[in-house]
Amino acid sequence: MKKHLFLIVILLYSTQLFSQQIHRKTLKLMGSRFDISVVANDTLKASYYINLAVEEISRIEKLISSWDPNSQTSEIIRNAGIQPVKVDKELFDLIERSIAISKLTDGAFDISYASMDKIWKFDGSMKTMPSEKEIKESVAKVGYNNIILDKENQTVFLKLKGMKIGFGAIGKGYAADKAKTLLISEGVVAGIINASGDMNTWGKQPNGDDWKVAITNPLNKNNAFALLPISNSAVVTSGDYEKYVNFNGKRYSHIIDPRTGYPASDIISVSVFAPKAELADALATSIFVMGTEIGLNRINQLKNIECIIIDSKGGIHTSNNININKI
Ligand code: ADP
Ligand code: MG
Repeated sequence: MKKHLFLIVILLYSTQLFSQQIHRKTLKLMGSRFDISVVANDTLKASYYINLAVEEISRIEKLISSWDPNSQTSEIIRNAGIQPVKVDKELFDLIERSIAISKLTDGAFDISYASMDKIWKFDGSMKTMPSEKEIKESVAKVGYNNIILDKENQTVFLKLKGMKIGFGAIGKGYAADKAKTLLISEGVVAGIINASGDMNTWGKQPNGDDWKVAITNPLNKNNAFALLPISNSAVVTSGDYEKYVNFNGKRYSHIIDPRTGYPASDIISVSVFAPKAELADALATSIFVMGTEIGLNRINQLKNIECIIIDSKGGIHTSNNININKI
């Protein structure tokens, strides 16, 4: 009797194991395409989990969006140069971590980039380069040193009138991390939250293999040149090959150095591997600004963080501990 029961349990357990499948949903959140994949036994459960992730990401969007006039972020911006604004601990902490990344990257990453005047256009309409004066003035209100945090009162104050903050280079990564954490706490064994190339993964594929990420060269999009396993960690790819403008033979990309007002120039794509998508997201943007040499140097100093850079000539550069398998 006992033996039978034991056998049935094993049988049930193994059918459960083998019926695990990847369930996936694509939708638009935070103005971007999100692909949410979970490994689950049945469709009903999977869609319950996916909805939880969607709710979590929408909740974060309401907090950090600078387009939504009702967000706390908009409230901070409206009060720039006027008064500190009390915010949720979650937003306060995100801003605190953003400032820490600014320090880590010598200001290449800066959420106050958002007040930059839009003097560069990357839609083909720009015929002459802006003047040096215009470029300098465009970043007059940019500077993370003027974001004043008061931990005790949990307030944020933008010191200068007209200052703005924006989470365009960190928010999607943060949302991917939070959705992952939530689904793990709900017991989801494996999955991928992919926010337009900012992704965090956990667990393994139903066949027992690690998740794999394909790295493509933007100059030859149909051809992935590396397929890398990622295990319970994040990978973020940043870069838009189409958005750039050429002046005097130099290529200027849509990511602008917040310290100088000049667009980043020698990189077309960066992938960063890190334990968290938030940091990977912010670092990918920073590497664009820092350039290949300084970017690689900085990444090589950080533990558990790797990167692959593709420069504007198609050259591939990798940090010290990365191993590209040609496929
Ligand atoms: P994408 O999400 O388009 O792949 P990124 O993650 O690199 O690209 O983020 C680019 C966005 O980040 C820009 O659209 C802008 O909102 C914001 N941003 C641009 N430059 C900086 C910067 N130096 N520091 C912080 N945020 C930036
Ligand atoms: Mg980024």
